Amino acid sequence: VARYQVIFKLAWPLIVIGNESLGLAHKNMLRNEIEELAEAVANDAGAGPVTDIEQILSSEGITVSTNDYGDHFDGMLEYSDGRFHIYCNLHRSVSRDSGRARFTLGHELGHYFIDEHREGLLNGSFPQHASHSDYQTTNPVERQADTFAANLLLPKQRFLAKLKRVAFSIDGIRSLAALFQTSLSSTAIRYVQLSPRPCAVVRWTAGKVTWMSASEELEQGGLRWVIASQATLPKDSATARALATSYGYREQQGTVASAWFSPRGPLVWKNAILIEQAFALGNLNALTFLYLDRVV
Ligand SMILES: [Zn+2]
Repeated sequence: VARYQVIFKLAWPLIVIGNESLGLAHKNMLRNEIEELAEAVANDAGAGPVTDIEQILSSEGITVSTNDYGDHFDGMLEYSDGRFHIYCNLHRSVSRDSGRARFTLGHELGHYFIDEHREGLLNGSFPQHASHSDYQTTNPVERQADTFAANLLLPKQRFLAKLKRVAFSIDGIRSLAALFQTSLSSTAIRYVQLSPRPCAVVRWTAGKVTWMSASEELEQGGLRWVIASQATLPKDSATARALATSYGYREQQGTVASAWFSPRGPLVWKNAILIEQAFALGNLNALTFLYLDRVV
């Protein structure tokens, strides 16, 4: 542990600039190849539903440091003295087996298991970098590692089998997150990607929309560019009330597409009627689950 703490301090300037300069040839591996790779790694580690991250780490000989590293990063993979090591920041996690920390470890394992990432780290063409697990990065290399993490922790076949057994609702997403030991955000994104019924999820952080994700059908219909804000939402809407309430409050109401999205698609032009389910995460944070009030 002491050895890595020294390396951590020495590596710090590189970490700070690393995120700006990922110069890897990242287009070589297709998204579905990463999905298959992650699912295979998950299946090798057991039948689930909780992917055994610790077993994967120990069988690959990867060591982990967990600590509160402040707000600087969520995770980092380091190659030093012939060994791989992961730094996992618990600044915003309760423990190493929390959903957020597991996603961070999954992301760093992506950099390890995806050949181009690992080789880039070994030969220096892919600098060691600080990873962030907030779903806001547009860097293709980081997105690949996120894709790996999502598919490692929520493998498609396992997830689909369980998805069928829960209610089509934010409560269903919450029970899947508990079952797979994953964060509510990563589970909600996976749910939206794989649900046979089109739906969307909007994440609010400190009263602002930080990201949204929608099924392909809804995205093509224009449920993509969120214009809703805490100021424009009706005070008595499900989400406005969830934002103003403490953790655990939940509410469902009807709403319309034009209250939420920029008019750049037929569902918004026609002002489709939506069902809005909101779940309060406390401190002006919330998750909103949206779907059409009819099956398309
Ligand atoms: Zn990363």
